[in-house]
Amino acid sequence: MATYRNATAARTIVGRLDHNKDLLEELIAVCKAENVKLAALTAIGAVRKARIGFYNQQAREYQFIELDEPLEILSLVGNVSLRDGEPMVHAHITLGTEAGDAYGGHLAPGTTVFACEFIMQQLDGPEFVREYDDETGLPLWRRQ
Ligand code: ZN
Repeated sequence: MATYRNATAARTIVGRLDHNKDLLEELIAVCKAENVKLAALTAIGAVRKARIGFYNQQAREYQFIELDEPLEILSLVGNVSLRDGEPMVHAHITLGTEAGDAYGGHLAPGTTVFACEFIMQQLDGPEFVREYDDETGLPLWRRQ
Protein backbone atom coordinates (compact mmCIF):
# COMPACT_ATOMS: atom_id res chain seq x y z
CA MET A 1 0.00 0.00 0.00
CA ALA A 2 1.20 3.49 -0.78
CA THR A 3 2.39 5.73 2.01
CA TYR A 4 0.37 8.94 2.16
CA ARG A 5 -1.29 11.39 4.48
CA ASN A 6 -3.48 14.43 4.01
CA ALA A 7 -2.07 17.93 3.85
CA THR A 8 -3.71 21.23 3.10
CA ALA A 9 -2.43 24.28 1.24
CA ALA A 10 -1.02 26.80 3.72
CA ARG A 11 0.64 29.65 1.85
CA THR A 12 2.53 30.26 -1.35
CA ILE A 13 6.00 31.76 -1.42
CA VAL A 14 6.91 33.35 -4.74
CA GLY A 15 10.37 34.68 -5.45
CA ARG A 16 13.55 34.82 -7.45
CA LEU A 17 16.97 33.51 -6.58
CA ASP A 18 20.14 35.57 -6.75
CA HIS A 19 22.51 35.42 -9.70
CA ASN A 20 25.54 33.15 -9.27
CA LYS A 21 24.20 31.32 -6.22
CA ASP A 22 23.84 27.56 -5.92
CA LEU A 23 20.31 26.65 -7.00
CA LEU A 24 19.71 23.80 -4.55
CA GLU A 25 21.35 25.55 -1.59
CA GLU A 26 19.31 28.70 -2.18
CA LEU A 27 16.03 26.79 -2.24
CA ILE A 28 16.99 25.12 1.05
CA ALA A 29 17.91 28.53 2.49
CA VAL A 30 14.42 29.84 1.64
CA CYS A 31 12.88 26.82 3.41
CA LYS A 32 14.99 27.43 6.52
CA ALA A 33 14.32 31.18 6.57
CA GLU A 34 10.57 30.64 6.18
CA ASN A 35 10.35 27.50 8.34
CA VAL A 36 8.97 25.41 5.47
CA LYS A 37 8.88 21.71 6.33
CA LEU A 38 6.46 20.44 3.70
CA ALA A 39 5.90 21.97 0.27
CA ALA A 40 5.48 21.53 -3.46
CA LEU A 41 7.96 23.41 -5.59
CA THR A 42 8.27 24.58 -9.17
CA ALA A 43 10.74 26.90 -10.87
CA ILE A 44 11.84 28.16 -14.26
CA GLY A 45 14.78 30.29 -15.38
CA ALA A 46 18.32 29.62 -16.49
CA VAL A 47 21.58 28.31 -15.07
CA ARG A 48 25.21 29.07 -15.88
CA LYS A 49 26.17 25.44 -15.36
CA ALA A 50 24.56 22.39 -13.86
CA ARG A 51 25.19 19.17 -12.01
CA ILE A 52 22.46 16.57 -12.22
CA GLY A 53 22.21 13.03 -10.92
CA PHE A 54 20.96 9.68 -12.12
CA TYR A 55 20.39 7.01 -9.49
CA ASN A 56 22.04 3.78 -10.55
CA GLN A 57 19.60 1.22 -9.16
CA GLN A 58 22.05 -1.68 -9.31
CA ALA A 59 24.98 0.14 -7.73
CA ARG A 60 22.57 2.00 -5.41
CA GLU A 61 24.38 5.28 -5.85
CA TYR A 62 24.03 8.49 -7.80
CA GLN A 63 26.05 9.08 -10.94
CA PHE A 64 26.48 12.76 -11.71
CA ILE A 65 26.58 14.62 -15.01
CA GLU A 66 28.39 17.97 -15.11
CA LEU A 67 27.11 20.42 -17.70
CA ASP A 68 29.47 23.36 -18.02
CA GLU A 69 27.35 25.56 -20.28
CA PRO A 70 24.44 28.02 -20.06
CA LEU A 71 21.12 26.19 -20.00
CA GLU A 72 17.45 27.09 -19.68
CA ILE A 73 15.53 25.68 -16.74
CA LEU A 74 12.64 24.28 -18.75
CA SER A 75 11.12 22.77 -15.67
CA LEU A 76 12.04 22.22 -12.06
CA VAL A 77 9.60 20.15 -10.04
CA GLY A 78 10.17 19.10 -6.49
CA ASN A 79 9.07 18.80 -2.92
CA VAL A 80 10.22 19.77 0.54
CA SER A 81 10.21 17.44 3.53
CA LEU A 82 12.42 16.72 6.53
CA ARG A 83 15.64 14.78 6.77
CA ASP A 84 17.56 14.68 10.05
CA GLY A 85 15.30 17.49 11.30
CA GLU A 86 16.25 19.86 8.47
CA PRO A 87 14.27 20.80 5.36
CA MET A 88 15.37 18.78 2.35
CA VAL A 89 14.56 19.87 -1.18
CA HIS A 90 14.15 16.98 -3.58
CA ALA A 91 13.91 18.35 -7.09
CA HIS A 92 14.22 17.11 -10.64
CA ILE A 93 15.18 19.48 -13.41
CA THR A 94 14.89 19.56 -17.18
CA LEU A 95 17.48 21.81 -18.83
CA GLY A 96 17.40 23.08 -22.41
CA THR A 97 20.44 23.75 -24.60
CA GLU A 98 21.00 26.45 -27.21
CA ALA A 99 20.10 23.86 -29.86
CA GLY A 100 16.83 23.00 -28.13
CA ASP A 101 17.97 19.66 -26.80
CA ALA A 102 17.28 18.71 -23.22
CA TYR A 103 19.08 17.15 -20.31
CA GLY A 104 17.39 16.06 -17.16
CA GLY A 105 17.98 14.57 -13.76
CA HIS A 106 18.05 14.89 -10.01
CA LEU A 107 19.12 18.40 -9.02
CA ALA A 108 22.47 18.31 -7.22
CA PRO A 109 24.67 20.93 -5.55
CA GLY A 110 26.92 22.54 -8.14
CA THR A 111 24.17 24.09 -10.27
CA THR A 112 24.72 27.84 -10.57
CA VAL A 113 21.80 30.24 -10.98
CA PHE A 114 21.74 32.69 -13.87
CA ALA A 115 18.15 33.67 -13.10
CA CYS A 116 15.44 31.67 -11.39
CA GLU A 117 11.81 32.29 -10.51
CA PHE A 118 10.27 29.86 -8.04
CA ILE A 119 6.88 29.15 -6.53
CA MET A 120 6.79 27.18 -3.30
CA GLN A 121 3.41 25.95 -2.10
CA GLN A 122 3.77 25.34 1.61
CA LEU A 123 1.56 22.62 3.03
CA ASP A 124 0.14 22.11 6.52
CA GLY A 125 -0.06 18.56 7.71
CA PRO A 126 1.84 15.75 9.34
CA GLU A 127 5.61 15.78 9.06
CA PHE A 128 7.09 13.84 6.20
CA VAL A 129 10.43 12.53 7.38
CA ARG A 130 13.01 10.85 5.17
CA GLU A 131 14.89 7.82 6.35
CA TYR A 132 17.05 5.18 4.74
CA ASP A 133 15.01 2.66 2.72
CA ASP A 134 16.54 -0.83 2.51
CA GLU A 135 14.80 -1.78 -0.73
CA THR A 136 16.15 1.13 -2.75
CA GLY A 137 19.08 2.52 -0.78
CA LEU A 138 17.40 5.94 -0.94
CA PRO A 139 16.23 8.32 1.81
CA LEU A 140 12.49 7.87 1.28
CA TRP A 141 9.50 9.06 3.27
CA ARG A 142 9.06 6.92 6.35
CA ARG A 143 6.12 4.56 6.30
CA GLN A 144 3.56 4.99 9.06
ZN1 ZN B 1 15.60 12.49 -7.24
